[in-house]
Amino acid sequence: MRGDFKHFQTMTLDDGLLLVGFDYLAKSVNVLNAESLSEWEGIVRFAQESPMVTGVLLLSLKEGIFCAGADLERLHEAQQQGAFQEVEQLVDTAHRTFDMMERSSKPFVAAVEGVCLGGGLELVLACHSRIASSHAKTCFGLPEVKLGIIPGFGGTQRLPRLIGVPASLEMMTTGKTLFPRQALKLGLTDATVTSIPSSIRTLQEIQKETLIQVAIAHARGLSSRAARHRPRPSQRWLSAPGIRSLVCRYVKGQVVKRVRHFYPAPLNAIEAVEMGMRSDVLEASLAIEKPRLLDLLAGPVSRHLVSLFLAGEEVKRRVGAVPEAITHVGVLGAGLMGSQIAGQLAEKGYTVMLRDVAQGILATAMGRIQHSQAAQVRKRIILPSDLRYRMMRITPTMHTKDLSTVPLVIEAVSEKLDVKRAVLAEFESQASPDAIFATNTSSYTLADIAARATHPQRCVGLHFFNPVAKMQLVEIVRAPFTSDRALAQACGLAKRLGKFPLVVRDGPGFLVNRILARYLAEAVIMVAEGVSIRRIDRVAKDFGMAVDSGRPMGPLELLDLVGLPVAMHVLTSLAVLGSRIESRDALLRMFVSGKKPVTFWSSGKENPQAVELVRQYRRAQSAPSGAVSDDLLHQRLFLPMVDEAVRCLNDKIVDHPWQVDFALTYGIGFPAFRGGLLAWARQEMTPEQITQALEALSDTYGKRFEPYPGLSRGGW
Ligand code: NAD
Repeated sequence: MRGDFKHFQTMTLDDGLLLVGFDYLAKSVNVLNAESLSEWEGIVRFAQESPMVTGVLLLSLKEGIFCAGADLERLHEAQQQGAFQEVEQLVDTAHRTFDMMERSSKPFVAAVEGVCLGGGLELVLACHSRIASSHAKTCFGLPEVKLGIIPGFGGTQRLPRLIGVPASLEMMTTGKTLFPRQALKLGLTDATVTSIPSSIRTLQEIQKETLIQVAIAHARGLSSRAARHRPRPSQRWLSAPGIRSLVCRYVKGQVVKRVRHFYPAPLNAIEAVEMGMRSDVLEASLAIEKPRLLDLLAGPVSRHLVSLFLAGEEVKRRVGAVPEAITHVGVLGAGLMGSQIAGQLAEKGYTVMLRDVAQGILATAMGRIQHSQAAQVRKRIILPSDLRYRMMRITPTMHTKDLSTVPLVIEAVSEKLDVKRAVLAEFESQASPDAIFATNTSSYTLADIAARATHPQRCVGLHFFNPVAKMQLVEIVRAPFTSDRALAQACGLAKRLGKFPLVVRDGPGFLVNRILARYLAEAVIMVAEGVSIRRIDRVAKDFGMAVDSGRPMGPLELLDLVGLPVAMHVLTSLAVLGSRIESRDALLRMFVSGKKPVTFWSSGKENPQAVELVRQYRRAQSAPSGAVSDDLLHQRLFLPMVDEAVRCLNDKIVDHPWQVDFALTYGIGFPAFRGGLLAWARQEMTPEQITQALEALSDTYGKRFEPYPGLSRGGW
């Protein structure tokens, strides 16, 4: 084939099979935008018209990435300018091209290795067959709902026709990705091939890969007419017209239960599927999918979600180059956090030395890791042999000397300053001179922990959030003495674990816990005032707290999850910030005075024990109670967080307001559809109005609400 393509390489085999390698120029990932799509349209048209071409095999020349979907930077620009003509044209080109592929008399086959998401999946859905590599990065998904939109290149129409309505609705409304074995089971792909990626990424070299060999043989034996979209029998039955509307109604109910009506996209996706299944793919895509997509793109929710997504990319980009690739890591402490961190490290291919003080603790930790990793076997994400390899990568030990050769140690021992300092001293005496000490402390400053260190430049904070597998944020704490190398290694490790490494300056509570403490402390004060546990958490959930995790949660339920002893530790350590971190210590002490701390909630209900303790406390304190509106509760929970965030910016804990928004969304579940804490505050009120509201709260409830003097100036 002749053609001067920037983003594709082409080669025709002897029998006329056209190999097309996607390799977006000057980007690390393949994306679909006006340029790449119009080139692909040219290739499809040529293949269709040329008598020499017998079929097309599409593959990627980038390792680990097939296609990441639409170019989000362009979408973001369109949203910022409120101009969507280019997007509309892109959608039209995609529909025209994908329809041409689907109707082609020549077979189109995709050999998918690596990430295949959004528009990338829609592209391969228009092929007649898909062969997947079992490469660790291969996955399929339509994550558009996470950006507040629905698939716009025919995905809402082709996916249900291929794998059935229930499975496709699950993918579209949750953004969940499928791994190769799951995709094969659902009929999204026709085969999975174990293949080793070639190191030279040219069409000539890549042809030798098993994946491409299998895909070529498959394409040669395929007739486009024979390759029909046929969901599996169970999915077919559930996709039949009468049942389909019941399924859609059921999924709608599930969505509303999970994210209420905060997010319009999943409900739009369900409607597009339900209505579209009655017509032809192209007709439904144009008449149902496209107007919905454009409406959602122009709305505030999608604008916020796309901004937060790009903020995440920026956080990862800022990490820069990592000086050395580490493969061996030590973890000190095999408790709640240490065991989870060790599991994550082993999952990502690190070998781990896991140290604790007793065999029993280590055995429990290994059991916990095995149990949580085994969930991936049950879900067909990994094979039982993968699980065995992961577990073999972790060596439990009681001896610090076994960690003497590791280049980086993550400290997750009990939250006691003397224990942490002792562990650091032991590390310094045994580790190699350039090994790095990364602490997971949540309530001490890095300066506290390293106060007696001989080589403080090796110390850095690596603050994971609980549960480690789920929480994507990691605060990388930098003190003035932390070396650039220690910082880079910590960032690199977090990034390789698939986390967002946000660099924050050392200080009490760092960024997230410092702001969170104001919210949690105020909730406890409300309990002490006699406001019901249910009502406090309801006000926060009505606002959308933690809705994105699929489990909306108020501050008191969050306190139960963190554990009151840990939370009290954090609140106490933040007392250095002055009168604004006030809590009701006497009440909390009553909650933790027994053998096991009393929780606010028990089996989904207010814990009667907690209610009784509050009653006793209030009687002893003769605490007055007054009527308080939901609006006031809402202000008391959220405005102090805004105040603290502005103080953090002033203290240069981070440099930019978007970093605060990103951190709170990914660290504590501030609702993403609101764009983050400061973005929300800016939309709701002017800086003067927030200052006045805090002053009014301060007059009624005390000094803790006194606004930061710089808050009214704005600029945040
Ligand atoms: P944990 O009590 O569950 O585990 C601590 C472990 O450290 C215990 O198994 C203990 O036996 C072990 N240990 C004590 N001294 C040791 C020593 N000298 N050498 C090796 N091991 C030793 O505590 P956790 O909740 O896992 O917290 C660990 C760290 O993580 C703390 O610094 C905490 O602030 C931080 N953190 C906790 C959370 C959370 O939600 N729990 C979240 C983020 C950070």
